[in-house]
Amino acid sequence: MFRELGRGDALLIVDVQNDFCPGGALPVPGGDRVIPVLNRWIAAAREGKARIYASRDWHPPDHASFQAQGGPWPAHCVRDTAGARVHAQLELPDEAELVDKGIQRDRDNYSAFDETDLSERLRAAGVQHVWVGGLAQDYCVLATVLDAIQAGFDVHLITEATRPVEVHPGDGQRALDKM
Ligand SMILES: [Zn+2]
Repeated sequence: MFRELGRGDALLIVDVQNDFCPGGALPVPGGDRVIPVLNRWIAAAREGKARIYASRDWHPPDHASFQAQGGPWPAHCVRDTAGARVHAQLELPDEAELVDKGIQRDRDNYSAFDETDLSERLRAAGVQHVWVGGLAQDYCVLATVLDAIQAGFDVHLITEATRPVEVHPGDGQRALDKM
């Protein structure tokens, strides 16, 4: 699935951060393999003057989702740390817009739309079609895609640009089925 992107399109890259890639605090198996695929889509978006958005998990150090606070996940993507940085091989241009989520201590946001102004920003930019890739397929990509549909956008999942973390085997396929 590949096509030219234009002004009514947006590329939405979900959480391609060091901690979600191999070597990180909460690695998605093969997570870095989405990067070359996404780099091709970034190039296509730039060519067509489509908007590019990149969401980041951007947690305070004592975030409620961390195991030390009784949450389900090891500490990850603590704001302003190396683990929270967008992976260096992702060729994100200067004009790409960042969307930070999970910024409040007591709340977690899997979706890039949850408690962010992303849908307003997309509407203001005249975006109708949202092309989504990133990590992890069975959590933040899933939640983001479902919210984007709910918000009324025409949503396309770039399946080959996603990988599941699969805490439970089969979660990736179940996520794909839901999307
Ligand atoms: Zn998180």
